[in-house]
Amino acid sequence: MAASGALVLALSSPPSPSPPLSSRPRALRRDTLLSLRAKPRARARVCAAAAASGSSNFGNQTSLMPPFSFTLDEGSSRSKKPYRWQRVLLKVSGEALAGDHTENIDPKITMAIAREVASVTKLGVEVAIVVGGGNIFRGASWAGCSGLDRSSADYIGMLATVMNAIFLQATMESIGIPTRVQTAFRMSEVAEPYIRRRAVRHLEKGRVVIFAAGTGNPFFTTDTAAALRCAEINAEVVLKATNVDGVYDADPRHNPNAHLLETVSYHEVTTRDLSVMDMTAITLCQENNIPVVVFNLQKPGNIAKAIVGEKVGTFIGCTRNEEQNGNTLCEEKRLVNEA
Ligand code: UDP
Repeated sequence: MAASGALVLALSSPPSPSPPLSSRPRALRRDTLLSLRAKPRARARVCAAAAASGSSNFGNQTSLMPPFSFTLDEGSSRSKKPYRWQRVLLKVSGEALAGDHTENIDPKITMAIAREVASVTKLGVEVAIVVGGGNIFRGASWAGCSGLDRSSADYIGMLATVMNAIFLQATMESIGIPTRVQTAFRMSEVAEPYIRRRAVRHLEKGRVVIFAAGTGNPFFTTDTAAALRCAEINAEVVLKATNVDGVYDADPRHNPNAHLLETVSYHEVTTRDLSVMDMTAITLCQENNIPVVVFNLQKPGNIAKAIVGEKVGTFIGCTRNEEQNGNTLCEEKRLVNEA
């Protein structure tokens, strides 16, 4: 607020001898200023630009600026939307992409994902996707074969995720969804490098961003990449699309009495070894209070339901016990989710 006050003063002050346009701070060019009177969103952007460039016109008020990706007008417009989540991180495993496993990738599956994602982006929900690569190559399974060390094997696995990402991108664009692939290591001929701010900007513009090459580091998984990117881009939830209905109390393939769990706490996931995600990923979610929804990708409509926040699969998050044990952020997150 103080920053916009400074802006009004600058707008109404009498004209004075001015330096050439090119040498003036971007935020104070006349054409920019005029456009600000009519466009509050543009004003917020210029405030952010001025804060970033340390423009003296804003003095030490820059510390009052809202953090990146949360501008005042954005917050208010977001709160008007009727959906539970406004920005989601969808994790699609390689196994899920393989469908019935006759080929590495089932085009019916990629098209089903594309159609469902299209239906929700039209509603204004921002969707980022992390793709796995297990349908093509898993580093851990190949490490040690013919002298292949674990790191090299993992880099091959990361390359596999890029293949899936490009396939998914092509499918999405074939039905008109604007999409960008960002890779965790540079492959600039085929995709953008991962740049957090650019990714957020794409999402704000309604593009689907597909993150490929995992975290860019061996010894990690794409589940961890999903948790990491979710935290980085301020997405509200990780939606983990799998080939099963959710999290069970026992392995449903071996135990016919296994029950599907509706809600599970982070603590239960880690202590009961429910094999939802690897430990690094679930811990990252827990530490950052990122809920995870595990659901079956093969049931038509499930992706769209999960993205708009309808009840589907298993919800993993804070329980009231964890909240009472001092995790106040959980309380905040729950209240936000309930609002
Ligand atoms: N991988 C990696 N670092 C990462 C993400 C993935 O080394 O940050 C490698 C690892 O070898 C892994 C493979 O890429 O086995 C495919 O990823 P993942 O197994 O997570 O795919 P998914 O199980 O989701 O299909």
